[in-house]
Amino acid sequence: MAQVAIYPGSFDPITSGHLGIIERGLYVFDKLIVAVAINARKGPFFTLEERLGFIERSFEGNDRVVVDSFTGLTVDYVRTKGANVILRGLRAVADFEYELQMANLNRKLAPGIETLLMMTGEEYFFVSSQNVKEIALLGGDIQGLVPPHVVEAFREKLERGEP
Ligand code: ADP
Repeated sequence: MAQVAIYPGSFDPITSGHLGIIERGLYVFDKLIVAVAINARKGPFFTLEERLGFIERSFEGNDRVVVDSFTGLTVDYVRTKGANVILRGLRAVADFEYELQMANLNRKLAPGIETLLMMTGEEYFFVSSQNVKEIALLGGDIQGLVPPHVVEAFREKLERGEP
């Protein structure tokens, strides 16, 4: 049976750090479902459609990466996909506490669904969607921190005076 993992997140937008986790995740899993969480409380910078499109474009032609979105509890979504692994990335100590809490909460809610944390590559440990957005909004260069089509999307959005 193919080993499937779910990689959930906001991906607002996808960064080179996320790409690294997905690429390396494919060494371990046959298939990854990159699942964009629809969270009404977190007002995203990019719309859901934009965020999905950025990920799809990054993995065009790779049928081992599926892009999807979900609402509600991550573990419920994982179950609907018949999977039992949640993949998450770990950058620095700062991520650890939150990820440990989430992993334990999710195990409490759904015993049998396990969270695997993958250490980030040293070239991307400092990259987050949040700091990329801040740099872009302040007019800084984000090339290399996100895929080229995301650099372009920031440029277009900021030129239009959004958000
Ligand atoms: P969330 O809002 O759920 O934290 P994110 O899109 O910010 O979603 O991140 C999704 C996952 O990817 C999280 O586990 C996060 O720690 C991880 N991640 C984000 N940036 C990086 C990076 N540069 N290197 C490795 N993992 C990362």
